[in-house]
Amino acid sequence: MKFDPASQIQDLHQFGEFGDVNPSVCDSATFTFMQAKSMVDTFHGEAEGCFLYSRHWNPSNKYLADAMAAMEGTEAGWVTGSGMGAITTTILHLIKCGDHIVSSITTYGGTFAFLANYLKKFNVEVSFVDITDLNAVEAAIRPNTRLIYTETMTNPLLQISDIPALAAIANKNNIKLVVDNTFTPMIVAPARLGAHVVVYSLTKFVNGKNDCVAGAICASHDFINSMIDVNDGTAMLLGPVLDPFRSSSILKNIHTLHIRMKQHSHNAAYLAEKFTAAGLRTIYPGLPSHPGHNLLKSMMNAQFGFGGMIAIDLETAEKASALMEDMEANDVGYLAVSLGYFKTLFSNSGKSTSSEVPEELQRKMGLSEGLVRYSVGLDNDIERSWLKIENSLKKVGIHK
Ligand SMILES: *Cc1c(COP(=O)(O)O)cnc(C)c1O
Repeated sequence: MKFDPASQIQDLHQFGEFGDVNPSVCDSATFTFMQAKSMVDTFHGEAEGCFLYSRHWNPSNKYLADAMAAMEGTEAGWVTGSGMGAITTTILHLIKCGDHIVSSITTYGGTFAFLANYLKKFNVEVSFVDITDLNAVEAAIRPNTRLIYTETMTNPLLQISDIPALAAIANKNNIKLVVDNTFTPMIVAPARLGAHVVVYSLTKFVNGKNDCVAGAICASHDFINSMIDVNDGTAMLLGPVLDPFRSSSILKNIHTLHIRMKQHSHNAAYLAEKFTAAGLRTIYPGLPSHPGHNLLKSMMNAQFGFGGMIAIDLETAEKASALMEDMEANDVGYLAVSLGYFKTLFSNSGKSTSSEVPEELQRKMGLSEGLVRYSVGLDNDIERSWLKIENSLKKVGIHK
């Protein structure tokens, strides 16, 4: 039996104190105790089920964190005010000044900027490697390396990370493998494949409504507890916690995530075939021609497809802009950054979400200036959407 994250979520026994099927929002910053000793025990992390202060734990956040942990098959989770909050807090918790990190060269632009620019403050060096080249990963490891960082499906080139192999390299060197699974919720459960920490931007597919930013960290009890330790926990002391109202609204959306992922994948697979047939260089992990196709197949949970992200290469930024403007005018979707929304979103990666990556490096990693990234929406009739896209391609002279 394959791991089924949707059933894990379905089986959660979460309801409110009045039997309310959607647990009531706990809009309290602090919590009262009947006995002074319970408060002391809670401070020391010893009182199970007691809440102390909402920067540490809040019941609404706990429900969402438990749902994320269930989906990932980890012992525990913790929810943050943004995906960057989850990523930076996790990395800062794992390193000290003078340490070294090995990271995929293709990552989310904000993550790249944090690793390449911000961590310089702490004299932390980062080696950026082609994450699909396991020899290069291994060769980059130094005595002071603390972690390997990657994304299951990297942004924006949609490379696939070999998580079991990367976990083996990490374990051999006694370091951590941290994986951002934002593009592939349900589809892949990295912790079950050996990742030590899984980080998320919930802003994208998991919430799926584009009405907030949020993030999550999924890991062992020990790791989450050390992050929220009142004395030296990075999450507790930097305070990137999610608001409980948001936790409550995201929790409701998680229960439809499996249906949405199937539809995103179905629609993306349809468009990827059409783009390929139209003669465009098309990057989609569901295409057998994608170099990571078989690897992703070997790692994925059943039934959720290959995801909702596609990239096509129009070679020049001018052609990319013309196409995107025409598609927006014809209601294909919106010219916008971000992903995982119910409507299709498209953007030119090099000029937007990867603009933090210097242009020279963009070329080196194979990011063409004409790369258009699609987050394919939940369109009920994807053939109809394709006909609109085809029209736009013809209008801007890309397709005969
Ligand atoms: C958007 C995104 C992030 C950052 O998340 P925010 O919620 O915007 O802070 C991190 N990683 C990936 C892969 C993303 O797409």
